[in-house]
Amino acid sequence: VGTKRAGRDEGGGELELIRQIRQRAGSARRGAGLRLGIGDDCALVRPRAGEELAITTDLSIAGRHFRLDWHPPEAVGHRTLARGLSDLAAMGARPLAAFLSLGLPRALTVADRGASWAQRFLDGFLALAKAHETPLAGGDLAESPVAVADIVLVGAVPEGKALLRSRARPGDALYVTGKLGAAARGLAGIAELAGPSNRDRRGRGLKALREKQAQGWGKERPVKIPAARKELTAAHMFPQPRVEQGLVLLRRRLATAAIDLSDGLSTDLAHLCEESGVGATIQTELLPVADGASLEQALNGGEDYELLFTARPKTRVPGAIAGVPVTPIGFITERATSEPAVMVFSGCIVEPLEARGWEHFSETDR
Ligand SMILES: [Mg+2]
Repeated sequence: VGTKRAGRDEGGGELELIRQIRQRAGSARRGAGLRLGIGDDCALVRPRAGEELAITTDLSIAGRHFRLDWHPPEAVGHRTLARGLSDLAAMGARPLAAFLSLGLPRALTVADRGASWAQRFLDGFLALAKAHETPLAGGDLAESPVAVADIVLVGAVPEGKALLRSRARPGDALYVTGKLGAAARGLAGIAELAGPSNRDRRGRGLKALREKQAQGWGKERPVKIPAARKELTAAHMFPQPRVEQGLVLLRRRLATAAIDLSDGLSTDLAHLCEESGVGATIQTELLPVADGASLEQALNGGEDYELLFTARPKTRVPGAIAGVPVTPIGFITERATSEPAVMVFSGCIVEPLEARGWEHFSETDR
């Protein structure tokens, strides 16, 4: 994007895009901690005294993590950054800087009846960056047969105080922020709007998608979402990472362990249990299921980007943090090696909870 200009001159589109990214990133508010942004060989980032760096990276690939025929470019940009910010939130880290590398088919960098796909991607990306005071401090851009966006987020946490997955203990209470299943419900809504032709295309897989992209994005406009359905799909298109909530959990020492819900409650809770060497029991009646979402979507739907955390039984956890509700959903148990780690309590029935989280747009249907 500017810290690096590797590769051949791919023509006006790419250089012009680099110029625009540099200009737009430069005009974004400089976050505390970024000393030098785009323009030199490296960015310079300085955490405060007593802090350490939290770094996360996340790769988004067309046909796998997003679809050019389903997601508007603004949503792809937003979601790319949201995934990284959500990982910082899960550690209780304060964002310092973002680094974005894009590989794009040429057609996506060329303006076509207004802004190019890449410009609109940046609109979505930079709007979320601004909301979380996270400057875009560098990256790279190259032509690619398939659209890919790779994000690196650098954050800061007080030394030794980061929220880890590995600190949950038997007896801890288990909490989630926000509502569950909203993103999966939204995605189901988008699939419905896309209609059978798009669903058929899904079956034809990555090769067909790649061919489509080589032909150009102009032939592959995203599904039109009617205004009345925008709210339904917003949780999927524009998920809100819980950065502020993570900071509060750390600052007020409320949480013993935390993870963000990117793959779905069943899968991410299993990760937390694995890292902590514990089990967990959740009660389905307590789950804050989003309006219109099913229990299955709340348990296994991915990409809600809420926080799942544990707290000591005596800790008084508020019912809301920075405007987002916090709900107790169960507790941490001893792990008996013969038993599955996560049990789910539904009425009087207790059964193991299979990790059946989100597999993105994998070719085998869930
Ligand atoms: Mg994560």
